[in-house]
Amino acid sequence: MPFDVAALLRPHLRELTPYSSARDDFSGEAMVFLDANENPIGSVVEEELNRYPDPRARAVKERLAPLLDVEADQIFLGNGSDEAIDLLIRAFCEPGEQRILITPPTYGMYRVAAGVNAVGVDEVPLTPGYQLDVASIRAALRDEHRLVFLCSPNNPTGNLMDRRAMLAVAASAPGLVVVDEAYIDFAGEGASLIGELAAHPNVVILRTFSKAWGMAAARLGVAIGHPDVIAVLNKIKLPYNLSELAQRVALEAIAHADRKDAFVASILAERQWLAARLAEVPVITTVHASDANFLLAIFVDARGTYERLVERGVVVRDRSRVILCDGALRITVGTRAENEVLLAALAEA
Ligand SMILES: *Cc1c(COP(=O)(O)O)cnc(C)c1O
Repeated sequence: MPFDVAALLRPHLRELTPYSSARDDFSGEAMVFLDANENPIGSVVEEELNRYPDPRARAVKERLAPLLDVEADQIFLGNGSDEAIDLLIRAFCEPGEQRILITPPTYGMYRVAAGVNAVGVDEVPLTPGYQLDVASIRAALRDEHRLVFLCSPNNPTGNLMDRRAMLAVAASAPGLVVVDEAYIDFAGEGASLIGELAAHPNVVILRTFSKAWGMAAARLGVAIGHPDVIAVLNKIKLPYNLSELAQRVALEAIAHADRKDAFVASILAERQWLAARLAEVPVITTVHASDANFLLAIFVDARGTYERLVERGVVVRDRSRVILCDGALRITVGTRAENEVLLAALAEA
């Protein structure tokens, strides 16, 4: 059966004519651009920003595609991956009718984005070992579940989801399965599902420049999937969702991907060092293994420790009231100096 994105799409979007921007309408070589009501003289700031950016960010996609080993038409670029999450829900879930399925404990934005769009959320918790409960997911899936959100490595637990389990979910889902790989750079070779896209056209992968690339402030997120799915996201996004500044730094980043790899190497070494130190802290009972740039640790009195850390100027993420995360604080791997401040504060706390 061929993969039919139109059948999954909300009906009113099948007919929608997208906004056609001035830069979209014209293609070719021109010398005089009088089509977009821009300021022809310049910008009030030093950066030259008086012209609208490329609405399709073609240069970024062309350079990113070989890095991801996909084609440019399989890439959507957004204002953070949060934009892709929102657009996927808006494109494929009819409010009040269709629903998303999530596997808590997991990233909070899936639920929030569904809520903003009046789309219902169903939950199938992870197993106590923080893996997908495939049988329960299969049993819960109904035709109205147009999107399943998986996160691998998962936030806040830090571990990769079993690959075969994710593919089993993709094989049984009635709609799209979104695999959020925000932390994949920290997980070692071969952990990504990108190579499975051809065999599983209903999988959409999310990536971000916010973590390993060190560019959270630039707001650059990526969705990778079947060209027909990506075309839908491009059709309904705001015309200029990526600023010229974001596109410029994206190009610069891609040209220096080796720097990202160097960051990852030092964060991984630091993760190992910090995990060993945390394991010796008396108020910590467990430090979970991590495939990400953070550690989930279980504390005797998580809330109390959290507050005493704050008093000492150290902020971690309290996940202790989240399902399956009793006593848990999520700790980002910092620099050695930051981690030493954390450990000193924990020794006093
Ligand atoms: C941090 C994070 C993101 C990144 O979101 P951006 O909008 O790209 O900054 C996405 N997914 C998960 C699970 C995250 O933890």
